[in-house]
Order: sequence, then structure tokens, then C-alpha cells
Amino acid sequence: MKESAVSALKKKGWNVIESDLYALKFNPVASRDDITGKPTDPDHFKYSAETAQAWKEGRLAKDIVEEQKKLEKADLVIFQFPVYWFGMPAIMKGWLDRVLTLGFAYTFQTMFSEGLFKNKKALLSFTTGGPQSMYTPSGTNGDMNVILWPIQNGILNFCGFKVLEPQILYAVAHVPQEARVGMLKSWEKRLETIWDENPVKFLPLQDFEGFSGGFVLKKEVEESLSESKYAPTVGQHLGKPLPPDSQVKAECSKL
Ligand SMILES: Cc1cc2nc3c(=O)[nH]c(=O)nc-3n(C[C@H](O)[C@H](O)[C@H](O)COP(=O)(O)OP(=O)(O)OC[C@H]3O[C@@H](n4cnc5c(N)ncnc54)[C@H](O)[C@@H]3O)c2cc1C
Repeated sequence: MKESAVSALKKKGWNVIESDLYALKFNPVASRDDITGKPTDPDHFKYSAETAQAWKEGRLAKDIVEEQKKLEKADLVIFQFPVYWFGMPAIMKGWLDRVLTLGFAYTFQTMFSEGLFKNKKALLSFTTGGPQSMYTPSGTNGDMNVILWPIQNGILNFCGFKVLEPQILYAVAHVPQEARVGMLKSWEKRLETIWDENPVKFLPLQDFEGFSGGFVLKKEVEESLSESKYAPTVGQHLGKPLPPDSQVKAECSKL
């Protein structure tokens, strides 16, 4: 999938930068070693605050800076991974923990639709062990839309990325070879026009109160949604049925 993406995107004229985390032996553990120089408060090391300060002063660990430089250049970021325990492998989670530094990737003034990466797009491309039926609202694993919400909203949308529909390859090791070849072909085809795709829908930050109001939906917004059959999003469900496929399909997110 990674190799297909690289060649399909290059064919369309994109400049592709890769980060193969295993080849890099990327260190996924957030620690004091992520900054050089003296911490602001050595007695109580607060990771976000210390790394934000180090980012400002150019004192972040070299491997973090290298990845941040790549991210700065990117218009579209594709995360390719096998699903591990309903999420991403630890090495990729550690990349997010360490590379998305406060100040560089987010601030509490500039988050969600106002996020620092609002001019960038991101996409999760992943393989699963389980078949698609397991990931439905009546399947043992539950609705894939619910599984995607923490990553797509809590990480990508939080930093401002426009989130494109995920590329999901269900039960990739258990389907016939022809099916896998087909999966690669449709991925390559999709990548030809990936830039023109609509993103998955999230509520804009303006729909919510600010800090003093506890960041909850504005009363008038909630009232305007009262007639709709479905919840606006998986997370802001307001006690209503979840909008079908709102995290896996851009067009369904109008519901
Ligand atoms: C720790 C852990 C936790 C997990 N948690 C979950 C979970 O929560 N939910 C879940 O659903 N699954 C889970 N799994 C399963 C995991 O998601 C799958 O095993 C994984 O997604 C399969 O992808 P892979 O890249 O490892 O495929 P592989 O098994 O490496 O490859 C799949 C098949 O593709 C073939 N192949 C390779 N290259 C090509 C090519 N170019 N063209 C055609 N075919 C090719 C290979 O020969 C192989 O038969 C977990 C696995 C682990 C180890």
C-alpha cells in the first residue's frame, strides 16, 4: 500500500516524502530526552509545556525536528498502518505523541477548524484482521465510525487537518490474492484525484462556546439541530442515533 501510494502520487507529479518508522527505528517514547538544555521546571517535568518551550527555542530532539520539517512541507499526510488493538501501532502513536508538539501542531486558541494545519489534508490508510461485517453497528467489534472518531477527530481534526475518507482494507490476509491486487489498484486509482476529494465533516469551532463557556455546543446551534433525525457527529451525538458512515464517507456527512 505504501509503495503503491508513493508510485501513484509520483506519477501524478507530487513530490513524496516518506517516513518509514521501522526503518528509521523511530523512538516512540515521549520523555525528558525530547528536549536539550535545562527544563523550565526540572522538579515537575510537564511534557507539553517543556516541549513547547523547546520548540520555540530550537531545543527539541533532532529526530522530532526532522519529522516536523517533513510535516511542514506536506500538503497531504497519509498514515499507512495495520490496525493494532483498534488503533495504530505504538510506533506510530509515539510519532504523533512526540512530533505534534504544542505550538507547532496545536494551541488551545487554534484548534479543530481553526487548527494550525488547516491548509493540510490527512488520510488514514489501514489494514485490519477482521472482516468488514465485524466493524458494523451490529458486529462484535462495533461500528468502524466509532473506532475512527478518536483518531480522526481527537488527533487529525484537532490539529486542523482536513480529514479525507479513510482507505480501509478489511481482512487483508484472509482474502484471495486477486482481491488484494484489486485493493492496490483501486488505491492507486483513488490517489490520481485524491486532492479533489471532499473531507469528512466535523462541526466548526465557531459552533462551540469558548473557554469560559466550557467548549460546549452553543445553545442556538443545538436548537437548530433539534429537528434532525441523526446526531451531527459520532462524538457530538446529543443522545440521537449516530450519523451513518459519517467517519468513513464524506458524502454521508451531510446527514
Ligand atoms: C498486536 C496486534 C494487534 C491487532 N489488533 C487488531 C485489531 O484490533 N483489529 C483487527 O481487525 N486486527 C488486528 N490485528 C490484525 C492486523 O490488523 C492484521 O494482521 C494486519 O492489518 C494485516 O496487515 P499486514 O500489513 O500485516 O499484512 P500481511 O499479513 O503482511 O499481508 C497480508 C497479505 O498480503 C500479501 N501481500 C503482500 N504484498 C502484496 C502485494 N504487493 N500484492 C498482493 N498481496 C500482497 C501477503 O502475502 C499476505 O498474504 C492485530 C495484529 C497485531 C499483531
